Amino acid sequence: MWLVLVFVAGCFLGSLELCLVHRWNHLFSFFLGRSVCDCCGRHLSWRELIPIFSYLYYRGTCPDCKQIINPIYPLSELTLGLIFSIVYIYFNNSLYYYLFYSILFLMICFDLSYQYIPDLFQIGLFILLFYNYFTFRLLFISYHHFFILFILTILYFFFTNYIGGADLKLIGILCVCLPFEFIPYFFFLAASSGLCCCLITKVRQIPFVPFLVLAFLPLHILLQI
Ligand SMILES: [Zn+2]
Repeated sequence: MWLVLVFVAGCFLGSLELCLVHRWNHLFSFFLGRSVCDCCGRHLSWRELIPIFSYLYYRGTCPDCKQIINPIYPLSELTLGLIFSIVYIYFNNSLYYYLFYSILFLMICFDLSYQYIPDLFQIGLFILLFYNYFTFRLLFISYHHFFILFILTILYFFFTNYIGGADLKLIGILCVCLPFEFIPYFFFLAASSGLCCCLITKVRQIPFVPFLVLAFLPLHILLQI
């Protein structure tokens, strides 16, 4: 029962976070504006705002203008719903990890939408890590980790043509959440999945944050088991 509620809460938050990302440059409209159809601009009724269900019920089209609704909406709702379910099952239903993964999800939405991530989210993650260090002590800070952070710093200042600065900051943050033995697997999974996506889509520059989180999540779960 609780798992279902957590899943539904994740779906609602996923919908809200995607809306926040799309209205980031007009935050006023995020807090006060009502949701509208992307195609005809009509205000949506409450029946059209139920995550996943509304999309399925109206068969992926706007009931008024009959235009196809972007599947990114139900997909993002489903993704955060599943992530929240994972946090409930594997991360002890911890508020810390709900927050941690909510911020990661926001970063994914930003990277996919704009290929840019405001520093505010990295700062948010950094504050969470700081809290983690002094309460749960679930961070891995060793000489090896410092070496990786040193390499990332060099890449950040001298090689930003090849990898984005936000990606490098996120890699640093995610690395200290994993023991050193896990880090080669993390890099391998992220790089290989990103490369496969480049080869399939034939796009040279891809948003890398989704692949970083995709590689990090199974290793992070493995750490909890
Ligand atoms: Zn419409």
